[in-house]
Amino acid sequence: VSRLVLVLGDQLSHDLSALKAADKARDVVVMAEVMEEGTYVPHHPKKIALVLSAMRHFAEELRADGWRVAYTRLDDPDASRSIVGELMRRGQAHGTAEVIATQPGEWRLIEALEDAPLTVSQLPDDRFICSPEEFDRWAEGRKELRMEYFYREMRRKTGFLMEDGKPAGGKWNYDHDNRKPARDDILRARPMRFEPDAITEEVLTLVEDRFGDHFGDLRPFRFAVTRADARRALDHFATALLAGFGDYQDAMLAGDRFLHHSVLSPYLNIGLLDPVEICTRVVEECKAGRVPLNAAEGYVRQVIGWREYMRGIYFREGPEYVRRNALGHDRALPAMYWGGATHMNCVAQAVEQTREEAYAHHIQRLMVTGNFALLAGIDPGAVHDWYLAVYADAFEWVEAPNVIGMSQVADGGIVASKPYVSSGNYIAKMSDYCGSCAYSVKDRTGENACPFNLLYWDFLIRHRDRFGRNPRMGPVYRTWDRMDADRREAVRAGAAAVLSRLDAAEAV
Ligand code: FAD
Ligand code: SF4
Repeated sequence: VSRLVLVLGDQLSHDLSALKAADKARDVVVMAEVMEEGTYVPHHPKKIALVLSAMRHFAEELRADGWRVAYTRLDDPDASRSIVGELMRRGQAHGTAEVIATQPGEWRLIEALEDAPLTVSQLPDDRFICSPEEFDRWAEGRKELRMEYFYREMRRKTGFLMEDGKPAGGKWNYDHDNRKPARDDILRARPMRFEPDAITEEVLTLVEDRFGDHFGDLRPFRFAVTRADARRALDHFATALLAGFGDYQDAMLAGDRFLHHSVLSPYLNIGLLDPVEICTRVVEECKAGRVPLNAAEGYVRQVIGWREYMRGIYFREGPEYVRRNALGHDRALPAMYWGGATHMNCVAQAVEQTREEAYAHHIQRLMVTGNFALLAGIDPGAVHDWYLAVYADAFEWVEAPNVIGMSQVADGGIVASKPYVSSGNYIAKMSDYCGSCAYSVKDRTGENACPFNLLYWDFLIRHRDRFGRNPRMGPVYRTWDRMDADRREAVRAGAAAVLSRLDAAEAV
């Protein structure tokens, strides 16, 4: 053997840079299921099962393709607890200290590989449209890193939805059309689901045994675990759901957890699908006239815009990004995030679906659980750990900028030029949650007032020093200043009562 080729659980792509650089005839692929990766945060059992089953299927495909694969199962008695431990063990067995790897998507592992007593070459992960170096060049010298401008560069670079160098339809962004609330529709298609095969069943038993105490329901498990099935899920989304993606992107319904979302992020993030292939498929539907431009553009923007932008921020900002806390928030994460009692229907719905599906869509993450954590002043590190643990698509390079940056503005406003906060009004407009809530979204003060209505103002006033200077926040502060004094006092007293209930670990 000349070298080991490391393939991590979120690198399950046949054209991974490490595999491309390796020699099938002489090198050995190392894949390892290790306890440390399953437990550095208490990952949702569905997420662990997705990764382990997809790894086992991928190893089979590599073997069928002629690779030698040294695969460590979690229950192997000789297995060590960490990736580096496994590389050392395999290196000894095969008489080599040389490792080819594709750079991991988190600083924790990048540093572990750098510090390993082995010769590891970490190759760039080229499964992205924009490299960290290219992102840095774009960011250099800019006062603000606005996603919208980065996105336009990516449109030009990829040529998606471009006509003669100009954006298709004449506009870069059709978000303005994408703010419609949704209605229950029993005919609406659902994301494609897959029955577990024998390999997955074996993994499910293992996960039940080892991680049964983590938050989240393991069964029923219906994720795709192979590239072929992930492709099927993509085709199904493109033909059955994409057309409504734009219109209902921000909508939330208690009876419909997925609406027109694709639920492709878990597959994309572990390497079963590629961003260019997804966008190619989406653009194809649009060109054939089967989906409207606002849907295709909205979708492409999420993938080549937001997703690539987030990765650029993560690598640009460095390892301590996840510990930033610009607003000095330090309240403990309330038990309701782990399924504890709450009277807030929107939070209960988002958490319950997170527990069952390891999935919530963007607006639930941003405007329900994220919004509440920010308004209530929860420690952003704890919020980050929660998101990293509970979602099947959560890998640090994409989770952290979304949580620390976009949702909690703990990075001081690099990602979000103004905080994504709202009163209950927004949730009432975009969802059907409020109708069956113990609180009244119409009440601005008093016992029954929706906690979002109280905490919204309290948050803005607590942080007036920081946000009051932002011209885009001016009108909001003027509204507060015009409110009569009694009402302002009642709002602040109501907010204080909610916060003290949180501090006393009582249900809100
Ligand atoms: P769709 O709505 O169908 O969107 C299409 C695709 O666009 C997604 O699959 C995803 O790859 C991409 N995308 C959309 N928005 C974003 C975004 N803001 N950042 C990056 N990619 C995006 N996404 C993750 O992949 N992993 C995470 O851990 C994660 N954590 C988040 C935490 C918070 C607080 C917030 C507000 C957002 C987070 N997101 C995360 C972004 C987004 O919510 C998910 O990508 C999306 O909900 C995945 O579901 P979907 O595939 O059905 O997405
Ligand atoms: Fe959520 Fe407030 Fe609506 Fe209840 S009333 S569902 S807490 S927004």
